[in-house]
Amino acid sequence: MSERLLELVGVSKTYEADASLWARLMGAGGAVRAVSEVDLTVTRGETLGLVGESGCGKSTLARLILKLEEVTGGDVIFDGRNVTGLGPQHLAWFRSRVQIVFQDPQSSLNRSYRVETILASALRLHRGLKRRSDLREAAADLLRLVGLDPAFLDRYPHELSGGQRQRVGIARALSVEPDLLVLDEPVSALDVSIQAQIVNLLHDLQRRLGLTYVFISHDLNVVRYLADRVAVMYFGRIVETGPVETIYRRPRHPYTRVLLSAVALPDPEHELPTETALTGEVPSPLAPPSGCAFHPRCPLAQERCRRERPELREVGGVAVACHLVES
Ligand code: SF4
Repeated sequence: MSERLLELVGVSKTYEADASLWARLMGAGGAVRAVSEVDLTVTRGETLGLVGESGCGKSTLARLILKLEEVTGGDVIFDGRNVTGLGPQHLAWFRSRVQIVFQDPQSSLNRSYRVETILASALRLHRGLKRRSDLREAAADLLRLVGLDPAFLDRYPHELSGGQRQRVGIARALSVEPDLLVLDEPVSALDVSIQAQIVNLLHDLQRRLGLTYVFISHDLNVVRYLADRVAVMYFGRIVETGPVETIYRRPRHPYTRVLLSAVALPDPEHELPTETALTGEVPSPLAPPSGCAFHPRCPLAQERCRRERPELREVGGVAVACHLVES
């Protein structure tokens, strides 16, 4: 059993223009690169937070991890096994180890089925249960696990509140007893008052079941609460990654500084410079900037930044991709 549960090695995803609705809508040819050469490791039992603006590639990366889409470059290694290009005969094995909880439980649960049916279909496949009474009991156990009364088995998704639906979504993901949960903005569609309950549930489940999480969120406070390490994405690349407290106390990449300036409590010895206000728009993937993709918006950009793309390198316990960050 590998301590490294998930490894992404040079993972890229490029959409050809004729296959990309977005590119077709833009009337453009060529290719759109959504994710570029991402290297990440997730250790068993930890939470990796994945943050960045909308459209930075977080959700595409989630789909690549889950093999809902295939990478166009690099490898996905799960529990020591290269699952890139895994054939259909092995996909069931992979799906029993890696599951996703979606942002919107309203659309991710089949509204035509009662909760019992939603949970029983996965239980039947994964646990080999056949008798209705066994399936119902196992489904009831799942509901108890996520803090719902088994009476909810007889309800349809539209009869549940948003928070209850998300609990069912989590129960469904847990029905196959996975090792890794990819949580794609799991609380952002919920009322603020409910968000904390779901975050606490996720925290509790991780502790009780030894789960590993990839937690995608634009809520940086929640990421700080749940994550052990964080990876910051910009324009399809990781620009900074490391232990969450190290980065929140001293963000080094100019983009990370801007993201965190509203929420972090920086180390007083490393106050955020005021010139890191973010300006401009996220560049179009159809016309990627030269050099550092952040240079059109970076207040610290220099001539070199327009020419050379910075690579991730280790600095003070984190990895940063910026020409100006000193060792
Ligand atoms: Fe800004 Fe240059 Fe660093 Fe890119 S490499 S983040 S443009 S200073």
